[in-house]
Amino acid sequence: MAAFDRGAVSALLDRLVAEGRAAAASGRPADYIPALAAADPLAVGAALCLGSGEILESGESRRRFTIQSVSKVLALAYVLETRGEEAVFSRVGKEPTGDPFNSIIRLETSDTRKPYNPLINAGAIVVSGLEPGSSGAERCAGLAAFVREAIGGRTPAIDEEVYRSESGTASRNRAIAWFLDNLGLLGGGVDEVLDAYFRQCAILLDATELARVGALFALDGLVPGSGCRLVSVRHARIVKGLMITCGLYDGSGEFCSAAGLPAKSGVGGGILASALGRMGIGAYGPALDERGNSLAGIRILTRLSEELGLFEF
Ligand code: GLU
Repeated sequence: MAAFDRGAVSALLDRLVAEGRAAAASGRPADYIPALAAADPLAVGAALCLGSGEILESGESRRRFTIQSVSKVLALAYVLETRGEEAVFSRVGKEPTGDPFNSIIRLETSDTRKPYNPLINAGAIVVSGLEPGSSGAERCAGLAAFVREAIGGRTPAIDEEVYRSESGTASRNRAIAWFLDNLGLLGGGVDEVLDAYFRQCAILLDATELARVGALFALDGLVPGSGCRLVSVRHARIVKGLMITCGLYDGSGEFCSAAGLPAKSGVGGGILASALGRMGIGAYGPALDERGNSLAGIRILTRLSEELGLFEF
């Protein structure tokens, strides 16, 4: 597809959402956070955001879902802007692990004694500890204000039921946080940092808003539409580098070879992706594969990248 033909791209999105729905049949929503299990596995949507801020969308693109691990890239960009690189990367690395997102094992076995990267739970909890504020609510409110600027206008709400459901069942994340505290890596009390982390995971966005965030990174930190700078070029590149190497858990290499795009998934079923200088993409489908990635989202992004030639290398 040479020139950008809006009608053709809209028709393509409709086709890909239908393909995504078919792909979703072999998975199911996450249930280790009990409130996530109720999601409709066949609710699938997708949206693109161009540099102008224009949105093209299809399917359940306005259905809100909790962003879960997608919050890790937002929190990372926010903390890089507010606290700086040294504060972040003295406490967390930039390397992929190949382990599941909630693995604890390398905290004890690695020589560096810090989480491998900010997109696994251990690294993200360290980043939440660097969010300005003291209580979890205060830290998350600062992040929500940053997200409002990224998506232009609306302050995102939190899904209280999902937040409470995760907070009440999070023994593994609590174990990780206590271990991080023992290593001296938490910038606050264990309970308040975890509370900030659970709240940020329960932020509600839809696929069009994920696409806006993707476009912000595609524009190296400029807000699509307004052109205001929210994230420095350097920080936007760091975030994208981590997305491409670590954004889809232990499926990051496979996704990168198939779609060639920096992206971040969450167990709520959302995936955001960023095509340099061209567009941001948001995809939603809560049925997950065994690694925790949205089956519909992977299908939509992979096919869209093939059809529109979005590969970045
Ligand atoms: N809140 C989830 C957790 O920490 C996020 C996981 C994810 O989306 O990868 O388990």
